[in-house]
Amino acid sequence: MRFPLRIPALLILASLLAVSVSPANEVAQSRDRLLREIADDVRRTAQYLGRDRLNPAVLAAMKNVPRHELVPDNQRRYAYENRPLPIGYGQTISQPYIVAIMTELIDPEAGDVVLEVGTGSGYQAAVLAEIVERVCTLEIIPQLAKRAKADLHRIGYSNVRSRKGDGYYGWPECGPFDGIVVTAGASHVPPPLIEQLKPGGKLIIPVGSRFMTQQLLLVEKDEAGELRTRQILPVRFVPLTGGH
Ligand code: SAM
Repeated sequence: MRFPLRIPALLILASLLAVSVSPANEVAQSRDRLLREIADDVRRTAQYLGRDRLNPAVLAAMKNVPRHELVPDNQRRYAYENRPLPIGYGQTISQPYIVAIMTELIDPEAGDVVLEVGTGSGYQAAVLAEIVERVCTLEIIPQLAKRAKADLHRIGYSNVRSRKGDGYYGWPECGPFDGIVVTAGASHVPPPLIEQLKPGGKLIIPVGSRFMTQQLLLVEKDEAGELRTRQILPVRFVPLTGGH
């Protein structure tokens, strides 16, 4: 008689276990773990960043963006690891910690218009789009530009304008910009981007030699149009290409 009584109990236990490891639950758990890792990295690098924690709006954005929807199928299982991943065409989706600090350092606000150079997977654009009014993003590789546009539309980021183009020259018709995020390593700060930055705006960009470690630079334009540049920390990005 004891045997049949145990079967329902086992079934209940099995279904509870199934709920706790359902794909949605797994994603939520992996995202929470990723956020804790980012918070640790931010604390560890506080002396470079000039802050020891992320703004709550940036944290919420990092929590909300479904990174697994923006990577190729064969990378999905790694989507919530704190590292860059290949997205095809020799390019990468940036490391979440780097996306978080680049977002944080331009101090994005709700009404802002932000330019991103180097759409790649669309991940950085989606994180920005969680916070600001409008994101304009440029990608030089046509296939990536097309795929990111479709993916961002599919997952509901209607405040992102994206197109194929050489981001060195910016996107004057979409600006001027409160913030500019360049996600490829440049040899210098592109003058057209400085022109398209509003007074009071901030631009973040990796600058250095091709395929070597670059320095992440934060360029601030004050209300009088004067520039102040601060070196943040060493980073490694794929190069900014194009004909400039
Ligand atoms: N922000 C991307 C993301 O979140 O997935 C990661 C970008 S990946 C590190 C750099 C991207 O910049 C690549 O997709 C590359 O093709 C693009 N890129 C390189 N030079 C460019 C240029 N001159 N204009 C626009 N995009 C460029």
